[in-house]
Amino acid sequence: MPRYIPDDVLDQIRLRADIIDVVQSYVPTLKKAGLTWKACCPFHHEKTPSFTVNPDRQIFKCFGCGKGGDVFKFVMELENLDFTSAAEHLAHKYGIIIPETPARRGGARRESFDGEIEYGTRERLCTLHEKLAAFYRRFLLEHPDGPVAAYFRTRGIPNDVADKFCIGASPDSWDAAIQFAHKEGFVDSELRDSGIVSSKDENQSHIYDRFRNRLMFPIWNESGRIVGFSARSVEADPQGWKYVNTPDSPIFHKGRLLYALNFARTAIPKAGAVVLCEGQLDAIAMHRAGVTHAVAPQGTAFTADQATILKRYTSTAVLATDNDNAGREAVFKDAAILLPLGFNVKVVRYPGAKDADETLSKFGADALAGAVESATDFFEFALDNAMSRVDPSTPAGRAAAANDVIYWMVQLENEVTREFYYDWLAKQLNVPLSSIEKVAERRLVEGARHSAVNVRRDAGAMPPPKPRNTALENAVFELLVLILDEEKYAREAAEELPADSLGDSVPGRAAEALLQSAMNGEWKDAPSSILTTLEMEGADVSKLVEAMDTAAGHAAERAAIEAAREAGQPAPQPSCPAADPELCKKFFRNTYNSSVRLILTDYYTRKRAELLAQVKALPPDAPERKALFDEIKDISSALLKLPARFKVVI
Ligand SMILES: [Zn+2]
Repeated sequence: MPRYIPDDVLDQIRLRADIIDVVQSYVPTLKKAGLTWKACCPFHHEKTPSFTVNPDRQIFKCFGCGKGGDVFKFVMELENLDFTSAAEHLAHKYGIIIPETPARRGGARRESFDGEIEYGTRERLCTLHEKLAAFYRRFLLEHPDGPVAAYFRTRGIPNDVADKFCIGASPDSWDAAIQFAHKEGFVDSELRDSGIVSSKDENQSHIYDRFRNRLMFPIWNESGRIVGFSARSVEADPQGWKYVNTPDSPIFHKGRLLYALNFARTAIPKAGAVVLCEGQLDAIAMHRAGVTHAVAPQGTAFTADQATILKRYTSTAVLATDNDNAGREAVFKDAAILLPLGFNVKVVRYPGAKDADETLSKFGADALAGAVESATDFFEFALDNAMSRVDPSTPAGRAAAANDVIYWMVQLENEVTREFYYDWLAKQLNVPLSSIEKVAERRLVEGARHSAVNVRRDAGAMPPPKPRNTALENAVFELLVLILDEEKYAREAAEELPADSLGDSVPGRAAEALLQSAMNGEWKDAPSSILTTLEMEGADVSKLVEAMDTAAGHAAERAAIEAAREAGQPAPQPSCPAADPELCKKFFRNTYNSSVRLILTDYYTRKRAELLAQVKALPPDAPERKALFDEIKDISSALLKLPARFKVVI
């Protein structure tokens, strides 16, 4: 696989981009817990934290879903990037300059042989968007008599807010953006990739501006780069769509973007909630009213991906949808995504107005902030909604309403919370709790049956597992943990193990690379660059991360015990022999002997089988047979000597 970023630049990024700092910028709940840092995992849904970050090793590891790696891997997973884009992203964030390569300088898009868009393309597409956003902003300011400016004034958005959200105007032209981009040094293929142009013909030879005579809202990604636009028509009765959005591109994935999250990301944990608006204008209205923890899904519907992103910041979602039928439907659709993920859901109501924007212009900032502050609990909203459709004076009507609301309550993931709401509902409807619970139980059973069917269906699609030599895998893994912990054993194993004895697994390749580094006197700094290299190749590095984490944990425990003893204080109990300053020496020797013995047994057995196959393929009178037989004899005697050479002392 081609490498586009020089090693010394990768080292610089690794040094500067501290993993605690990077993880915390995405997972504000990350807290120090003893020797490591902990939080609920940003990659899978959980209630108790099993996601840990080790600042000494600069790695993260989730014991729930198994994801792990270094700072590059973390950004790859969270931002959905390939290795080079993740490295580039971190370089940008920490102000590290990546030297220009011919591919970058030319500005032309090139694809590597596996079809992945090359490093540099992403950066150029973001830069193109940022320049274009400034161009649209200037155009709005410089054309106050134009139709877009006239419409914009009716929205009553002050200039400082328009500046912050970089609201602009696209000229009424087929090629204004194209000409601007050309002047800035961008080529047509980049314009096509970015989605800022359209084309009617199949091979896209004739391109024209996608956004014409529209109010332009730049869309930022989570880390504050502009990656697309949402463009609103300014005509009272638009010919085309009311909104035209950037199509999905290498940098724009609408199901994973939340408008204004870049501005809201620090305010959300502080407020303990996120406000979810219907569109950009509502989100802007919220921010104007001081509700700075507001975001809006990009495009149409709110997605589970977007909910998972928000879950990293908070567990309370305040839905601020329009005060109409479509808005009410949206509340239930969003709740169906949010409740099973463990969110508390609230609903904003706008008395006397249709949405956030109108509340702000009619009643002012305090009224809008107040509406958010006094948002209704989702189940209260659901009950009101259900009651409005039945006759609440009859038992049958109340039963139907209860049935409706219970449907939503069973989606709550927490049992205690569910019980709380059953009780609340029973009191509201004046029915016995036991009948609510009976209905709920039936619903839960039905739900479980549904998901069991789904799980089976998923399982059927999985390929059958490959047969594995687990004893050998374990031995390689144990050796890896040991040589990560103690340099002495890395040097010893480097002398003893043949180059191809450790196999192709990730722990095997990592161990082999570490042995070579130990021979070159580079043992200390090797693990992090080995990890980066394997990640860059797209390998599953979870076992390597686990080994690094285990080794670092043992070393830290030993240090803590020794420090306590020196200070004359009671020492903490070691978690295993390797973490005990005294026992570790014997334990290490035994681990080394047993794992190396197993690895060599496997290696010699394989070699002998290969040689025997070679002998069989030869004619009976071939002169090479003698040499081969001698070799086989040597291997057999080496095999016999292994138990005595690598004794395990109990
Ligand atoms: Zn996880």
